[in-house]
Amino acid sequence: MSKKVHVFNAGPCLLPQVAIDHAIEALKDFSGTGISVLSISHRTKEWDAVMDECRALWRELLHIPDTHEVVFLGGGASLQFLYVAMNYLEKKAAYLDTGVWAHKALKEAQGIGDAYAIACSKDKNYTYIPKGFDIPADLDYLHITTNNTIYGTEIHEDIDCPCPLIADMSSDIMSRPVDVSKYDLIYGGAQKNVGPAGVIFAIIRKDSLGRVSRYIPTMLDYRTHIDKLSMFNTPPVFAIFVMNETLKWLKSIGGVEAMYEINKKKAALLYDEIDRNSMFVGTAVKEDRSLMNVCFVMAPGKEDLQDEFFAFAKERGMVGIKGHRSVGGFRASLYNACTVEDVQALVDCMKEFETLKK
Ligand SMILES: *Cc1c(COP(=O)(O)O)cnc(C)c1O
Repeated sequence: MSKKVHVFNAGPCLLPQVAIDHAIEALKDFSGTGISVLSISHRTKEWDAVMDECRALWRELLHIPDTHEVVFLGGGASLQFLYVAMNYLEKKAAYLDTGVWAHKALKEAQGIGDAYAIACSKDKNYTYIPKGFDIPADLDYLHITTNNTIYGTEIHEDIDCPCPLIADMSSDIMSRPVDVSKYDLIYGGAQKNVGPAGVIFAIIRKDSLGRVSRYIPTMLDYRTHIDKLSMFNTPPVFAIFVMNETLKWLKSIGGVEAMYEINKKKAALLYDEIDRNSMFVGTAVKEDRSLMNVCFVMAPGKEDLQDEFFAFAKERGMVGIKGHRSVGGFRASLYNACTVEDVQALVDCMKEFETLKK
């Protein structure tokens, strides 16, 4: 028996136990073939079945319309920053600069063409989402980062955008319903909420491609991967296998809509405690608080208790609550596989600490 722990890692994320169990079985014997999933040829009907199932689950869980295709690739979300610019940037693109990842996406596009920050929340260390800015209709696209993993802010609604809209949804995909039809492209790394590291998803409006005049290298061209059903070259087989198992689990508990209700409950539980507890304060402005990454610090005057709380929480099995180095303090990531019980354990721990220190 391993020790009881509560995992709040920002990524790679906690995965449902059933997905891990099925992965262990498949490591020994994939789909009754007698071969490990690590050694299975990706050109077999057994593997095709996994790819088909995974694509179908994506479509079903996010209600992806026929206008869009979903592909699974390697290279991480960071390589998608380049894909976006290569496939969509012709004249001018705007980026909403809401954090480190959004900023990196913008930088990458600026290496390819004309891209600028339409609004930026760096003035307050990215603790809010800029609002009320005008979006020119003639942009190639507006790029947004719907959930800012490091700062704990989130764009909770699918915005109405007069130009094509592109979103990095690495850390809130499948956590809430999304109107996919509003986006030309949604992409992200699987390792924040839907699988292990090593695979990305891209949901692409098919008729949005082919509008740029540059040469796009084969591997960076989304059309290559749509045409070859994500198997132009060897796909990240094991990562896709585990992602598929994770999505099967998500479906079994009622899909994204049911998950959203649980996620709202988990986040409310923790934010309510942060707001109530005299030891802690939240860092993100309330209306933009992320349901996935909850950032908080010691209350003014209590800063010197930070290390003590880390040790106190660690002793009680809390893992991965250290904030990103650019924010400090604490960050608890409440991705899909994190349970209400996990969050309750953290809340209890915060209450106990307060009682001890008061
Ligand atoms: C983690 C993260 C990334 C980077 O993902 P990699 O797969 O490590 O390249 C990009 N965007 C967001 C919002 C993230 O949380």
